[in-house]
Amino acid sequence: PVPKKIPAHWINNRWGQKWPGLVEAANIDTYFEGRKPEWIIKTAEQFYTGLGFSPLPESFWKKSDLYPLPPDSKRKKNTHASCWHIDLENDIRSLQSIEPNARWFFTAHHELGHGYYFKAYTRPEVPYLLRLGAAPGFHEGVGELIALASSQVPYLQSRGVYLFLLRRDAALGSGHLCAQPAARSMERALVEIRFRFSRHRVAVAARRRILRCRY
Ligand SMILES: [Zn+2]
Repeated sequence: PVPKKIPAHWINNRWGQKWPGLVEAANIDTYFEGRKPEWIIKTAEQFYTGLGFSPLPESFWKKSDLYPLPPDSKRKKNTHASCWHIDLENDIRSLQSIEPNARWFFTAHHELGHGYYFKAYTRPEVPYLLRLGAAPGFHEGVGELIALASSQVPYLQSRGVYLFLLRRDAALGSGHLCAQPAARSMERALVEIRFRFSRHRVAVAARRRILRCRY
């Protein structure tokens, strides 16, 4: 019999990073249709420059392998995204296969989390030995945090990704905006995730507001 609680890696993503396919309404790929893959990675870089970090080194754009290979390509590549601090200096590269969809939008933000972490290590007062970081898990945590931030509705809207048509809910009378049904499920899912990560009162309040908007 299937136990009530199952390991996260039994579901779709073997690293247990995401749980795709469980909530049908959370598919927002259509909102990325028509975007260029270059727009996705540049938008991810802008997330970090918006925080005050400097742009990625020029070599990142020349030496990274960011886009899918043509179907008839003789060269093959691992399509699982990664980011590398090649020389522990400024040679930072990423392996991705960016396509215009939500998954790659969030993944690009995640991978640059590694890249910007590497950049932060690249300073004279940090010996090479320490530029590897305490544990890869910490980089993953930073990448996932930024990926989560990049999935927030206000950020997506600020990048021109309008997840849904918004309508004012007159019943609330507070000017709070409620989403259309599919997007509402998405927003609830995102808030649920955020809620699990934090018991901060703001997150709880946001969750309550959205639940109140259910109908
Ligand atoms: Zn990662």
